[in-house]
Amino acid sequence: KPSIAILTSGGDAPGMNAAVRAAVRAGLNADVDVYGVRCGYQGLIDDDFIPMDAKSVSHIINQGGTTLLSARCEDFRTEAGRATAAENLKKRNIKGLVVIGGDGSFTGALKIAQEHGISVVGVPATIDNDIYGTDFTIGFDTAVNTVMEAVDKIDDTAESHNRLFFIEVMGRDAGFIALHAGMASGCSEILIPEEETDVKYLVSRLNDLHSRGKRSMIVMVAEGDQCGGVFKLARQTEDALKDMQVRVTVLGHLQRGGSPTCADRVLACRLGVAAVEKLLQGVGGVMVGTRNQQVVTTSLAEAIEKKSKPDEDMIRVAHTITY
Ligand code: ATP
Repeated sequence: KPSIAILTSGGDAPGMNAAVRAAVRAGLNADVDVYGVRCGYQGLIDDDFIPMDAKSVSHIINQGGTTLLSARCEDFRTEAGRATAAENLKKRNIKGLVVIGGDGSFTGALKIAQEHGISVVGVPATIDNDIYGTDFTIGFDTAVNTVMEAVDKIDDTAESHNRLFFIEVMGRDAGFIALHAGMASGCSEILIPEEETDVKYLVSRLNDLHSRGKRSMIVMVAEGDQCGGVFKLARQTEDALKDMQVRVTVLGHLQRGGSPTCADRVLACRLGVAAVEKLLQGVGGVMVGTRNQQVVTTSLAEAIEKKSKPDEDMIRVAHTITY
């Protein structure tokens, strides 16, 4: 009987559980033995495999984080580590592996595929949305909704106290979270790494908005923006806008948690099933994703190499309505 294994790797993202559940059930429905691997690549090396049945994924579709657990695994970066991992797969006759994670995880996946002939399909799951080959990654929608709700709350206090808030959000080198959540929560400015930030211009614009009667302002700052960090930005602005109280909020890890939104669950269900179907069709070395609502595949090499960028029209629209 053929066997497949499923793991979650790298940073956790809401919807990973929904993807695991979908992949397990797709495998079981095709009469394949399915193993869950705990702690990502660390579990592959430590031989931490769990035989999965339909019940082992009950009631996890609505849970954030990953019940299979995740890890950053240094050993998997070595040839010896990957050889041990491949041995553990082969002794169970596992020919196909579903890797749910980000581009770092896909780099490791491609290596074990090339070195040991393991068929691997990647499922993009990261709140950052920074993976080429899919319109959205699993976890992004939940994260932007979390950010939007947090900013709505901060806006209440900003408006009551004549304050300017700088809010730093996650996203690593990409500005997707800042752009989408910043637009949705009506921020006065959105700073993303895909665009150059001119601090002098920013300060004069905020000054101008304030002098035209704007009581409260929120500036959304992507963590990867080149402005020098939210705290420095706040100091520079404070000097220029003397009668405004300037505050900084770093949203941090709350952006990573929470029950996945409907959009993330649906995406995870579709991609989890698609990943297993690809493996069973004998297709490996690819990532599954969606483009214009359709499931598509991209070679892992291309997904790793190419950079995903926010849509230019999205950026234009954001700047048109920020005020
Ligand atoms: P996220 O973007 O959400 O953090 P990620 O998948 O990019 O997720 P990483 O920490 O970059 O997260 O990678 C996860 C794991 O993948 C690493 O801990 C390591 O085990 C493996 N990995 C990453 N890069 C490589 C590489 N170049 N060679 C082999 N394995 C790698």
